[in-house]
Amino acid sequence: MIKIENINKWYGHFQVLTDCSTHVHKGDVMVICGPSGSGKSTLIKTVNGLEPVQDGSILVDNVAVTDPKTDLSWLRARIGMVFQNFELFPHLTIRENLTIAQVKVLKRGLDEANAKGLKYLERVGLLAHQDKFPGQLSGGQQQRVAIARALSMDPIAMLFDEPTSALDPEMINEVLDVMVGLAQEGMTMMVVTHEMGFARRVANRIVFMDKGMVIEDCSKDDFFGAPRSPRAADFLSKII
Ligand code: ADP
Ligand code: MG
Repeated sequence: MIKIENINKWYGHFQVLTDCSTHVHKGDVMVICGPSGSGKSTLIKTVNGLEPVQDGSILVDNVAVTDPKTDLSWLRARIGMVFQNFELFPHLTIRENLTIAQVKVLKRGLDEANAKGLKYLERVGLLAHQDKFPGQLSGGQQQRVAIARALSMDPIAMLFDEPTSALDPEMINEVLDVMVGLAQEGMTMMVVTHEMGFARRVANRIVFMDKGMVIEDCSKDDFFGAPRSPRAADFLSKII
């Protein structure tokens, strides 16, 4: 479903991604890990064209993201992204947060958008909070709303960039539980996270990055059992 082939990206003279390749199949749960500054956020943002690359190719559901002639608006609407800092609209209620893109981007009627949004809000256990504003919710609750909002767009895949790293420890599991449920239902996911417990539970693939390169791209069992590279072994020894 997602084919990243030999991509290179520079910020000025600084090469942030060097010859990165990986493939994500439908239903895969790929966890991307690695030290801070290794290019994980940049890599994940290339998938929907939020970060352009200067070299290489990316195909998502047979759409050539890296072809300048491609209209990325459809793809962006159908790839859910969840960031570290929730990024809900603070001046809109939870229900409005859930419906605005459905109405504006997918051109759904408000009734349909409300029904869809509230279905996912219920799924993340927050139906009772639909008339509140984001600032009235905890960080963990806001992140669950952000996931419900992404799901309301009927995404073909979900990208997560450190979705729990801004949360207080007691709120991490409520967000991870929602993500585990999605993974178990077969959602195609790319997840940047340091939560190795999550990786062990639901990932089927692990990508380890360092200095802008994909150092390991392997099964979960291979990664946790016997990482091939010393850098991955060193990383694991510090994080677990
Ligand atoms: P990670 O998510 O693994 O921590 P990032 O993808 O955010 O890493 O960043 C990789 C490297 O690129 C870092 O060294 C970072 O400072 C640099 N970088 C990120 N965004 C920019 C930018 N807009 N301009 C210049 N350098 C950047
Ligand atoms: Mg990052």
